[in-house]
Amino acid sequence: MRKRAIYSANPIKQEHVKKNEFNECQFSVSCGNEVYCVDVLSACCSCSAGRLGKFCKHQFAIYCYYNICGKNFPPVEAKEKHQIAYLALGQEAPPIDFYQPFRFDSCEIPKH
Ligand SMILES: [Zn+2]
Repeated sequence: MRKRAIYSANPIKQEHVKKNEFNECQFSVSCGNEVYCVDVLSACCSCSAGRLGKFCKHQFAIYCYYNICGKNFPPVEAKEKHQIAYLALGQEAPPIDFYQPFRFDSCEIPKH
């Protein structure tokens, strides 16, 4: 997912993501010839996927550049993965260290 958002035919660069000056939960994301409106509070985007509540690359771009997660954001950090496991397994969930990436540099997001 990360590679598609960053290396797609229409890559979303930092300058393509703009925070709404009147509502800090809303962003406009330029992608190709379209501009999509993302509301991180309601976890929606105006693209065909995001309108139905799916996670999309426009929401991911906001995570990349603003470090803000919507409610439908998949667990990407060790902390969130541990929380999901704890919900499913309770005390049997492996400790948070279990969910750390093998390489810490694999979490870095290239800035173009
Ligand atoms: Zn979208």
